[in-house]
Amino acid sequence: MSKVKVKKKSVGLLIILILLIIGIIFYFKKDIKVDLKDITTKKEEIKEISDFKGMKLDEVKEYVDSKKIELNTSYDYDDSIPKDEVIESNLNDNKLDIKVSLGSLPLDTFKEKKVNELGNVPIMMYHGIVNTTTNKYTGGNVDKDGYNRTSGAFYKDLEFYYEKGYRMIRLQDYVDGKINVELGYSPIILTFDDGNENNFKVIKKNEDGSLEFDPESAIGVLERIKKKYPDMGVTATFFLNGALCNQKEYNEDIMKWLVDNGYDVGNHTISHVDFTKVGIEKTKYEVGALYQKLESIIPGKYVKIIALPFGSPYKKSHSNYPYIIDGEYEGVTYHTVAGLRVGWEAEVSPFNKDFDTSFLKRIRAYDNNGKEFDIEMNFKLLENKKFISDGNKDIITIPKSKENKLGTTNLKVVTYEED
Ligand SMILES: [Zn+2]
Repeated sequence: MSKVKVKKKSVGLLIILILLIIGIIFYFKKDIKVDLKDITTKKEEIKEISDFKGMKLDEVKEYVDSKKIELNTSYDYDDSIPKDEVIESNLNDNKLDIKVSLGSLPLDTFKEKKVNELGNVPIMMYHGIVNTTTNKYTGGNVDKDGYNRTSGAFYKDLEFYYEKGYRMIRLQDYVDGKINVELGYSPIILTFDDGNENNFKVIKKNEDGSLEFDPESAIGVLERIKKKYPDMGVTATFFLNGALCNQKEYNEDIMKWLVDNGYDVGNHTISHVDFTKVGIEKTKYEVGALYQKLESIIPGKYVKIIALPFGSPYKKSHSNYPYIIDGEYEGVTYHTVAGLRVGWEAEVSPFNKDFDTSFLKRIRAYDNNGKEFDIEMNFKLLENKKFISDGNKDIITIPKSKENKLGTTNLKVVTYEED
């Protein structure tokens, strides 16, 4: 009996002992856990950055990538802060704005490259691109007035622009004053009116849904140039009528392809109307119904820009003009941000005080032996007055002598003395 009692007692003690040990282990484990937590929080605190001043742009990019922070970068010249280093930063929610140094002002380079962001910008007007070599008209013209051009001449035009130091920008970016062209180069804009089939002729739609374009169509030529000169920034705006791309079977596919591949689509009215020959109601239909067509196929992806058919009206004072810009059709309002005329020469810089987006001039892309504002004549005229970029879309750089032509702007302006 007593033996059993002793056994019972020691079993009880053993159980208490075990419970004690378990308790101690748990107690310490908890402690250890808390410690680990503390360490990780501290580590994160060290990694969290709120002021990026003095950091290199690459380091900031790495950091925002790891933190999934949205980064907005602007640039400025700064004598005291080395190139590519952050001058100032502002972190708000999950958005980081930084200003990065470009180093000291390269005034000598501006002078040498003749940088002039108040210079003129050519907006080229094309219509049909025709696959023929047997044209009987001047140069690359396919008709008497040179509205249509051979595909071979069009290819050469693009090489000519490239060699002359022009790089393509979107018409919409020009309208918005966003000119992103490398230092020393000049912007050029391409437009096509009428939605001719030969602008984007589809020869085949593959099983995977991809389109094959006629290599001699405008898109065919542009895509070849894109491959040959990746730094050309190939783009163009196509102005469509009610028949869209004039290929019933592929209209929607082509329009989607265009906006997904760096091109833009704009408004050339439903029936290629002459605005001076119709009333206000018809004007609103011609403009509003075409916008609605574009909206139904490429919602929100088209530009709110009109190329005026026949370049008409010639004057903005025409009574229909306000309804080309603003109106309502079948209960839907529209607003046009820019209107294109049939001009003859290059337009002013978007930073010029005379810049008027609602009535922009275009150059007819045709040949006339260097006369009557043909391509050759226009690019000769541009030699001494073209827009030459400082390579920075956030800064307007101009020779001091041109300062009086500058309009109001939110961008930083840099001027330099010419010789
Ligand atoms: Zn037209």
